[in-house]
Amino acid sequence: MNTVPLVGEPLALDLVNTWVQAPGGREFDLLETQDALRRWLVQENDRLTPRGGDVNLEAVSTLRGHIARAVEHARHGTAPPASALHAVTEAQRAAPAHRELSWDGAAVTARPRRSGDPTRDLLAELAEAAADLLADPSIRSIRLCEGPECRLLFLPANPRRRWCSPALCGNRVRVARYYQRHKNERNLWENSERDSACEIAVCTPSL
Ligand SMILES: [Zn+2]
Repeated sequence: MNTVPLVGEPLALDLVNTWVQAPGGREFDLLETQDALRRWLVQENDRLTPRGGDVNLEAVSTLRGHIARAVEHARHGTAPPASALHAVTEAQRAAPAHRELSWDGAAVTARPRRSGDPTRDLLAELAEAAADLLADPSIRSIRLCEGPECRLLFLPANPRRRWCSPALCGNRVRVARYYQRHKNERNLWENSERDSACEIAVCTPSL
């Protein structure tokens, strides 16, 4: 079970992947604390606008739930709950984006800005990323990792990709197969040893 946030997928998928359910039903919230959220925002800082101040964890978690439900339906080609689509739309509306123009001494610069507080600004950016993903036909290509205990989603650039991370799940499966193969070989060897011992035992009385 990977309990380190997977990053590098579309931003909205990275967000969805911060809440995972293990096969036994155990749940992991990788954004459970302000520190965890802060670390995740640093990991995603090339795709999010830096902002000061703490954001409301519960609000992030609620939006993540809506996005996860919408993605799960949309990737299977079924209608997402209207409440989920509404929540993602409203999160964007709560902090509209604009370009703040200024003169840097040599040229006009246009920095993206939002008009909400830190929580609403972040939610709006995450919701916008979700809107991009949900409306993109590639959403039907999203896959569940084939790692036996993994529930992470990814959007494969290569259709042969099978793991959320080749270094984690791919490697784990390869190691498991290696041990299974060796176990089978050991069983074969032990059986052949037993067979030989049996032959000896059978043969011994006639010696
Ligand atoms: Zn995986």
